[in-house]
This record gives sequence, structure tokens and C-alpha cells, in this order.
Amino acid sequence: MTTSSTPTPGTRQRVCVLGATGSVGAATLDVVAAHPHRFEVFAVTAHRRLDELFVQCVRFRPRYAAVASAAEARLLAERLRGADVATEVMSGAGALCELAAHPDVDAVMAAIVGAAGLAPCLAAASAGKRLLLANKEALVVGGPLFVRAVANGGATLLPIDSEHSAIHQCLPLDRSTWPDRVARIVLTASGGPFRGRDPATLARVTPDEACAHPNWVMGRKISIDSATMMNKALEVIEAHFLFALAPEQIEVVIHPQSIIHSMVVCRDQSVLAQLGTPDMRVPIAYGLGYPDRIASGADALDWSTLAALTFEPADLRLYPGLGLAWDALRAPPGSTAVLNAANEEAVAAFLAGTVSFDRIHTVNCRTIESLSPAPGAADSLESLLALDHEARGRAREFLKALAQ
Ligand code: NAD
Ligand code: MG
Repeated sequence: MTTSSTPTPGTRQRVCVLGATGSVGAATLDVVAAHPHRFEVFAVTAHRRLDELFVQCVRFRPRYAAVASAAEARLLAERLRGADVATEVMSGAGALCELAAHPDVDAVMAAIVGAAGLAPCLAAASAGKRLLLANKEALVVGGPLFVRAVANGGATLLPIDSEHSAIHQCLPLDRSTWPDRVARIVLTASGGPFRGRDPATLARVTPDEACAHPNWVMGRKISIDSATMMNKALEVIEAHFLFALAPEQIEVVIHPQSIIHSMVVCRDQSVLAQLGTPDMRVPIAYGLGYPDRIASGADALDWSTLAALTFEPADLRLYPGLGLAWDALRAPPGSTAVLNAANEEAVAAFLAGTVSFDRIHTVNCRTIESLSPAPGAADSLESLLALDHEARGRAREFLKALAQ
């Protein structure tokens, strides 16, 4: 095992953190900072919260930073010059792809939220990087195109989503053995803040109530997805593409303590599980260090206070969105991109206060019912982005009709 006290001069991995100011991005920088002999921050990017990006640049002195617009890039560059930091500031969506595929980058942490992360993920995959994938939406949208880019580019794709990291940790290093060994996988879900509630009361919940996750502190979009369990639906799709499993080989169980992060059921019915405190630094450290194990900074599990690990089935009346994962996987290719686009729009509308919580599912259903992707729609980045655009347009129409 290698630890942070093992200096490896001259072999530091240069890490590009896409979405550095977010919850996963900041946790990544935490782990990287604990291993200065192993990693250096090559680039950081952000969409908003530029004050935080400035602080990160001062602390880590990356070669590059990237922001959304040229005007913001000029402002940040000026501030950095004033602080005597030589980071070069880039801007726009193209800069994210350029940095993700930069020849001097070894590892890319994909921690952008939403389909906006797809193009830079594809760029990193095609350039053969070690790609640490937190941005599940990119894989849900990209699907087989993403998987082919990883294979053709010779990239190493390591899941950062805690459930998929757990599955990866339970599987042998040799991927070719997986189909013979694995009967199915079980993704665990906490059930979110509304577990046990009467579904009839969901129309009145507020964004802050829906974001108050019992076990994890996360960005607002994934927090809403956890409350609807669309997050688990996206994770079922993510698992399908990551581990090449049929939809019926993927199960979901509610495990409110979030200690077991997911399980693999082997052909012989032996069940392998990965456990740990709910702290994203664990899967991040696993991805950064793989195949070594490096310190994550997370607390140890305290067996004396761990009274019980419990399980219950997901109530589809409370979480109707969960079933959409299997529907989308059985529908024509591109349907998972349509579902994702609808959900991103519906969550944004709920967070903006224009529709009620229960309407997120209504809009997702109406959008996937109204838009069946044409053959070839999932074959290229351009056609997928066009499909994503069309689905968002449909979803916005439904949202407008439902607006409060
Ligand atoms: P967040 O909202 O906290 O951060 C998102 C980051 O992406 C920010 O740096 C933001 O500036 C950037 N960003 C947002 N929109 C962008 C755009 N259009 N273009 C470029 N950059 C943009 O989100 P998060 O909770 O850190 O989640 C990030 C991703 O990781 C999501 O896909 C989420 O599903 C996944 N994930 C998060 C967690 C978690 O614990 N937070 C766990 C598992 C998976
Ligand atoms: Mg997860």
C-alpha cells in the first residue's frame, strides 16, 4: 500500500478538476492536498462562485483555470495577477475540452453537474486519460458513445459515485472476468429526506426541505434527485453502461444508514459489499489512487455506535421516478438522454419555485412519452446534443403549462 508519506519525486499525477468549486470538486482538492508527493493540481474550472475559484488558484497555483465567459476570465486573471499567481485563465465550453484532453494532464476529475459535462468527458476519454467520473449525467446522456470513446481512447474510467465505486471495489481488477462472476448488483439508496412520508404531502415541500439530505452534503441538483430518487434512476442507467449489465441485473434497495454503499451478487449467491462512512473523499481517494489505496481523510466506521444496518424496498408511490430508469433503458437508444434533459429542466424549475415537487415526475413522464429518439440519435455528440436540446424544449413547454 502507498500512503502520502511515500514520496515519488518526478512522478506526480497532474490532475485537472472540472467543476472544482462544487461539492465533489472541493472534496477532490482536499484529497489531492493531503498527498503533495503524488498529485499536483494542473487545472481547475468553475461556472459560478468565482471567489472560491480564486482562492483555489491562490492555494494550488494550477497552470490553468477556466470559467464560463471571457469577461469573467479577464476579472479573475486581473485578481490573480494582483495576488502574484501565474495561473492562465481560459473561458468557454471549448476550454473545458481543451484542458480535459491536455497532453500534460494525467487524471481528469469530472465533477461538473449535468449534461454540460459530456463534451469534456468525451474529450478526456478520447485522449486516453484516467477519467474519474462523478458527473453521472454525462454517462447517462452519452451512453454507448461514451463507452466507445473510453475503449477507443484507451482511457481508464473510474466511477466516483459512491455506489459505483463500491461495485468497482467489489469486482476483480480483470474486467474480462466480470460477466462470468456477476449475477446482479444491488445499488443502495438512503431514501432521501422524504422516506416514510405520505406521497400525498409531496406537492407542498420546499426546495430547502428537499435539499436537506439525511446523510450526505451535496450540490442542490443531486440533492433534489435524491429526494425524488431520480438520482438512483440515473445511477441504474450509469451502472448499466459502466458494468455492461442488463437492466434486469440491477436492483435497488433502501438502506437508510448509507453505510453499505452497494453490493455485488455473485453467480454462487455470495454477496460482496463495500462499507464506510458516507464521505465522498473515500471514492475520490479510491479513484485517484487506484490500484493503490491512499488515505482519504474520512473518519473510520465506529462499530460501537453502529446499532443496525437495515433494508427496505423502495416504495414506487413515493418514488415513481425510479421506475423510469428501466423504461428508458428498454426504449430506443437516446431515451436516457431525453429522460436526463427533462429531469434537469424540471429540477431547475422546482428549485426556481415555478413548479411543485411532484411535478418533476409529471414532466419527466410527459417528455419521454412525447419524444422517441430517431435511429442514430445517440451515435454522435452532435446528434445527442440536438436530442438534449429538443427534449429540454419539450420539457419547458410542459413546465410552462404546469407553472404555479
Ligand atoms: P455542485 O453543484 O456542488 O457543483 C457543480 C460544479 O460544476 C461547480 O463547480 C459548478 O461551477 C460547475 N458547473 C455547473 N454547471 C456548469 C456548466 N454548465 N458548465 C461548466 N461547469 C458547470 O455539484 P456536486 O454535488 O459536486 O455534483 C457534481 C457531479 O457529481 C454531479 O453530476 C453529481 O450527480 C455527481 N455526484 C455528486 C455527489 C456529491 O456528493 N455531491 C455524489 C455522487 C455523484
Ligand atoms: Mg451516488
